[in-house]
Amino acid sequence: MRYSQLLIPTIKEVPAEAEIPSHQLMIRAGFIRKLASGTYTYLPLGLRCLQKIMAIVRQEMNAAGAQEILAPCIQPMELWQKTGRDVDYGETMCRFKDRHGRMNVLAPTAEEVFTDLVSHEVSSYKQLPINLYQISQKFRDEFRPRFGVLRSREFIMKDAYSFNASLESLEESYQSMYRAYCRIFDRCGVPYVVVEAESGEMGGSGSQQFTVPTETGEDVIVHTEDGTYAANIEKAGVDPLAKETAKPQAAMEEVHTPGVGSIEAVCAFLKTQPADMIKTLVYSAGDDVIVALVRGDHELNPEKLTQAMGGRHVEMAEPHVITRLTGAAVGFAGPQGLAGKVARLLIDHAVAAMSSGVTGANKTDYHVKNVAPGRDFPLAGENVAVLDIRNAAAGDTHGGKKLLFARGIEVGQIFKLGTKYSAKLGAKFLDEQGKEQVCLMGCYGIGINRILASAIECAHDDRGSILPINIAPFEVEIIPLSEAGAAADEARRIYDELLAAGVDALMDDRAARPGVKFADADLLGIPLRVVVGERGLKEGNVELKARTAAQPTMVKAAEAVAEVVKLVAELKSPGKS
Ligand code: ATP
Ligand code: MG
Repeated sequence: MRYSQLLIPTIKEVPAEAEIPSHQLMIRAGFIRKLASGTYTYLPLGLRCLQKIMAIVRQEMNAAGAQEILAPCIQPMELWQKTGRDVDYGETMCRFKDRHGRMNVLAPTAEEVFTDLVSHEVSSYKQLPINLYQISQKFRDEFRPRFGVLRSREFIMKDAYSFNASLESLEESYQSMYRAYCRIFDRCGVPYVVVEAESGEMGGSGSQQFTVPTETGEDVIVHTEDGTYAANIEKAGVDPLAKETAKPQAAMEEVHTPGVGSIEAVCAFLKTQPADMIKTLVYSAGDDVIVALVRGDHELNPEKLTQAMGGRHVEMAEPHVITRLTGAAVGFAGPQGLAGKVARLLIDHAVAAMSSGVTGANKTDYHVKNVAPGRDFPLAGENVAVLDIRNAAAGDTHGGKKLLFARGIEVGQIFKLGTKYSAKLGAKFLDEQGKEQVCLMGCYGIGINRILASAIECAHDDRGSILPINIAPFEVEIIPLSEAGAAADEARRIYDELLAAGVDALMDDRAARPGVKFADADLLGIPLRVVVGERGLKEGNVELKARTAAQPTMVKAAEAVAEVVKLVAELKSPGKS
């Protein structure tokens, strides 16, 4: 294509609203423009990248035996009520009432819709396994849309759903998706690690996440140094801490802490440290009240809490629930005396290991010192459990090995769902014996936009993006240094021949200074460029430069096309780009 015919509004300045390189560069290179918070228009070059990613995803999904369909983005709320996810998804779900008063959902994902389809269309084991997928727009009213297309309110997801007659068959579908995902990310040229993940709102029994390691990522990956264990922070299990060697156990002592509610404020006021405090957190699961205890310097892990509650939907209790339970204002809860008043008292291992700590007094403006786990509140009992409910922290171990932390961007996730959706939505089949069975399911998601942004996040320099060839808007850019004459003619010949050879070429035919063309070429991140100038041509040469190379090399103009074709083929093979 010709540069002069395309809308490529490049920008020199770094846009103020963009915090991270991929967001800045996608705007600067004219790939995207923001419409409103968390929504973006893809301009021609950005869309070309997405289309290339989607083509790779399609090829690999089809090769793995999955079938593409396209489901509506408008979904009836009733389907979500059947699985209870109308509640679980909370405010992230975009809802609207239609003119007939019916509630609808703008697809944040599509387990319900696909399961409903299969419940009507599949009835026999002979039709299984089946893996259906789509590539479509998804909508999530994210609490904090940010980082450009990485966390947006509208994005493109590839979502696939497998329906299986047995656990072995589910395992096969899952492994085949795992392999397809590896091929997809390899071909897209993004580095990735696969980590254990929590199945979260999805429910189910096993899950892995494909994460692109980058410091700007929102996800935290926890791993052992030898790499034998890697999980995201939601999932990462931590070993219990050794019981503190007993300090002299003084009796509990109430202290007046007027208006001092937060951990930091209490520590400053009482001259203690967060690790010596017990955070008493009150949650609701339906009508049940749950109290969770974590050490003052630790963070409660909502996923682990949900798992501890058998997958029930758990949320922070409303202030009036906390006040009714403790008899005090929010910020002054303590575990003493609460076990008998709540449905569950869940105590993190690290709290159980403390010899004593400071916590709320269940009395407004008061805390208590010397609260000893096991003495002042129970560590065992019918509704009491000591378990892992917090995020891994520096110094923790897993299986005795020290845990390290890294950041990354989640680009895909695969789940074994079991019968969570099929049972509720009636996706059943008759087995070989004619007996009715519920389908087992897996689901498999990829964020198309996130692949592009994370590729840029991983490879860029101060001049622009360095895009992997398989997802770059073009494979090669040809830059004539003059608009007419021999150089322009030769550039056009090379361009035409490259197109004829099946190379995706861009010709910068603008009437612009060479410096402008070079700067734009670097900004766009196209992997190869050929510069054709009068001076070089006199010696029969053109310049060939990879985006990653420091200097161009001279090649014979007559051999330029063959050389580019060869380089493109090399770069395109997985592992090279
Ligand atoms: P996150 O934890 O980042 O919110 P998720 O686990 O909720 O993501 P999934 O439901 O697993 O996301 O969706 C499948 C894929 O869709 C993700 O792996 C990710 O690549 C992509 N995705 C999810 N949310 C967004 C978003 N707000 N913007 C862009 N891509 C997204
Ligand atoms: Mg996910």
